[in-house]
Amino acid sequence: MLDSMQEKPNFVFITGGVLSGIGKGVTTASIAKLFQFRGYNIRIIKIDPYLNIDPGTLNPIEHGEVFVTDQTWTFQPVDGFEFTISEIDLDFGTYERFTGMEVHPSQNITSGQIYLSVILEEREGGFLGRTVQIIPHVTDRIKQRIWEVVNKNPIPDVLLVEIGGTVGDIEAMPFLEAVRQIVRELGRFRTAVVHVTLVPYMISVGEFKTKPTQHSVRTLQSLGLQPDITICRAERKLPDSAKEKIALFCNIPTERVVSNPDIPVIYQLPLSFEEEGLGNILVEHFGMEPRTPDTSSWSGMVESYENATDMVVIAMPGKYTTLGDSYKSINQALADAAATCGTRIEIRWIETETRCTIESLTEDLSDVDGVLLTPGFGERGVEGMICAASVALKSKIPLLGICYGAQLSTVAFARNIMKWKGAHTTEVDIDSLYPVVDLMDEQKLTDTKGGTMRLGGHAVHIVKGTRLYEIYGVEKVHERFRHRYHLIDRYLKKMQEKGLKISAFDSTGRIINAIEFDDHPFWIGVQYHPEFKSRPDEPHPLYLGLIRAAMEYKKMRVK
Ligand code: GLN
Repeated sequence: MLDSMQEKPNFVFITGGVLSGIGKGVTTASIAKLFQFRGYNIRIIKIDPYLNIDPGTLNPIEHGEVFVTDQTWTFQPVDGFEFTISEIDLDFGTYERFTGMEVHPSQNITSGQIYLSVILEEREGGFLGRTVQIIPHVTDRIKQRIWEVVNKNPIPDVLLVEIGGTVGDIEAMPFLEAVRQIVRELGRFRTAVVHVTLVPYMISVGEFKTKPTQHSVRTLQSLGLQPDITICRAERKLPDSAKEKIALFCNIPTERVVSNPDIPVIYQLPLSFEEEGLGNILVEHFGMEPRTPDTSSWSGMVESYENATDMVVIAMPGKYTTLGDSYKSINQALADAAATCGTRIEIRWIETETRCTIESLTEDLSDVDGVLLTPGFGERGVEGMICAASVALKSKIPLLGICYGAQLSTVAFARNIMKWKGAHTTEVDIDSLYPVVDLMDEQKLTDTKGGTMRLGGHAVHIVKGTRLYEIYGVEKVHERFRHRYHLIDRYLKKMQEKGLKISAFDSTGRIINAIEFDDHPFWIGVQYHPEFKSRPDEPHPLYLGLIRAAMEYKKMRVK
């Protein structure tokens, strides 16, 4: 498994202390960026210690949005068992946006995958005669999975491994033990343990408090792991006195205690780390050739954020509005498109379980410049989303519907323009007289939920002469999907008589991939998720389209 002669890669392990949700994902992506600034190749693994095989069956309120990769992966724990994986942790969205590289689903390792493969192998007789144990069987499997990702060509110069959760969590123990073993096998200068902690500022005493960090470092050390670098999340940059104290307790030089302060634009973080000298420290630690970092194009992108002046308000009606991360890639795609258009953005969440009538939505949308109708599943909040689409349709507010959002805006069109009373998706109303959205045929044969949707990247064929074609400028693109239901051709044909246009299909012509309405400044629904392909330096054309339309709409609205 381990070829000690293999010179590449160097390993950066990112662990978390004190609290979850302190931005380990952004920290990991920013460290990756430091190597990219120097022309080094990187790859990132994220370990999620939960027992789910993948996050596809999780409510976004649990861990945030489910990220969808372009490639699908057949996870085969043993012969005869196969799982399709294309749904992974939302941190991968951050990795893709920061690094510009597409990730493979096998880069997301969960406890569920590890335990399942060990247990199924035991049943096959793979460990005959032996007691199957966490150490060495589970830890060996973890290391094997890590090396499988490493050894895909081209082998990266640096592999970053983010360990989800917080040190001390029971679930993460086998993973931290595997990390300890890798550090032992490769030596301290092929590996770097980066510990990300929180340093709270106590207003009452006017001081940064380092005690929680001291405790979490001690927990890490008790597991046999010595941090090489400690990254401190804090409101502001840490004063030297706090850094010195942490350095003393962590047993590292003071320059290896790095601030991770609150910043208005997350893309500033790699630049902030660069200022703190983190890039040079890591390169030196590994004995890699020192190179001058080229941050010019990244800084240029960050500046477009900082220089944005105007402001547009985009409403997001939906049901997962209590957790910002539920629609993380959408929010980022909107923000990235806005910065490129020189404007700032306010996202206004509308909780459609409670705001669910034409009257309430008319009020909510009276001072917004655009609507992003969100993806989702199930019945909750759906009437409010249809009402939001109906108001946007009538009041000519620019609207982009994503997946469920596209399906429900089609329902709104059916009810308002076609006057089909009770039109619906069968996901909510199985007895609808006008089921304009229904299960895809192959889905009717599936009764399990994990990894069984139509997932991953598929070709999208765009109809010439449509608004969508104007936006993309090409006839064929590749987009990412995650759905069971689709728009039903039979009804859409009738809707075309009243101006609805089908603007894209899949390769077979069977699945309608996009719709639009001409008698409106911007009314587009797409069956796929363009947000997963949007990058800060290359926002997705559909999101740019919505922001531009919103800017135009605003001019009229405030006249
Ligand atoms: N629930 C819808 C479907 O399964 C939409 C899914 C989504 O928004 N990703 O088709």
